[in-house]
Amino acid sequence: MTNQELTARWQGALMNNYGTPRLPLVRGEGAKLWDADGKEYLDFVGGIAVNALGHAHPAVVEAVSKQIASLGHVSNLFIAEPPVALAERLLQHFGRDGKVYFCNSGAEANEGAFKIGRLTGRSHMVATRGGFHGRTMGALALTGQPGKQEPFLPLPGDVTHVPYGDAQALAAAVTEDTALVIIEPIQGENGVVVPPAGYLKAARAITAATGALLVLDEVQTGIGRTGHWFEYQAHEGVLPDVVTLAKGLGGGLPLGATVAFGRAAELLQPGQHGTTFGGNPVACAAGLAVLDTIADEGLLDNVKRQGERLRAGIEALGHPLISHVRGSGLLLGIVLTEPLAPTAQQAAQDAGILVNAPAPDVVRLMPPLTLGDDAVDAFIGALPGILDQAHEAHGDGRSGE
Ligand code: PMP
Repeated sequence: MTNQELTARWQGALMNNYGTPRLPLVRGEGAKLWDADGKEYLDFVGGIAVNALGHAHPAVVEAVSKQIASLGHVSNLFIAEPPVALAERLLQHFGRDGKVYFCNSGAEANEGAFKIGRLTGRSHMVATRGGFHGRTMGALALTGQPGKQEPFLPLPGDVTHVPYGDAQALAAAVTEDTALVIIEPIQGENGVVVPPAGYLKAARAITAATGALLVLDEVQTGIGRTGHWFEYQAHEGVLPDVVTLAKGLGGGLPLGATVAFGRAAELLQPGQHGTTFGGNPVACAAGLAVLDTIADEGLLDNVKRQGERLRAGIEALGHPLISHVRGSGLLLGIVLTEPLAPTAQQAAQDAGILVNAPAPDVVRLMPPLTLGDDAVDAFIGALPGILDQAHEAHGDGRSGE
């Protein structure tokens, strides 16, 4: 099987919902991936922040293998141990009492938050422009990207979108009928946009004043990605009512969670929500392995250290196409001085490094949290050539997409 063969089969059998030509990958180990032609890549996409421990981490392989061999699935009619243990472990890392609802994706985790919001008896919701919360209809209603919403109107209503990072606009939008405010601590899909200092704290104060729930979407920022268990923990005075998680949580398996605290944890009543695979023991066993490995291997410190090395190394290049680097830990956006990011993505792939381009001028990095010195050095060493190549290709009129 070659890249070409697998691509042709993909085109024949799968819906082209993402549209971009795909790279056919067949194997992964740590921060490395191989395509069907045998070419090796350095993975700085991490399955869009999913592969927290990299590919084929022995702890995940062992946990999943043991679990599927003993108890694969029981349905929500019964209790299994892995979801219980994972919920307990998650709450330990939050450092608060709360309740967890497990599902299969980030969109679903936000659907859970949406329903919890409506169960307050209020209907209005506030979300941010440019925010991304998923593609199912409720999550899409919260997503602040009109182009993604437009073909599917009408969406569940009564959502106001406010400029991200603007506490005054947020205060003006929140009313006595506002059920929830949903915010990403860093906007990932919008191009790794970091809000001004004090924004989350202001959001907490604004929601507390009217009784609205503060929902933090940590699907991309959570599970160690920014060097904290959850990014909000880097901000003083911010205790959210609901946190949504997915991506890194499952270590490569589909796993999402809606975690609620205080009165928000008690709103969902029997029969009001659910999904067959929610709390699947195999996915939860993987989740436990992820959390334990992050703790045991000191990966939060590694994220901080390698994140700083990456940022400093990229900035020190002084390359004319690099404006600055933004983000936190191992969720970084290289902001370019020209809208060359899609072309740079392709140039990087040609050079054996996988990155992505969430905005025309932003190259996003989300490598595994296990990233070592070698990979960071290799990336920094290759970046000038990649950007030069992108510049040249762009001049040729060649598109990266
Ligand atoms: N929230 C955020 C912040 C995300 O980045 C994403 C995915 N990019 C989602 C929600 C949706 O997650 P999923 O694709 O698992 O539905």
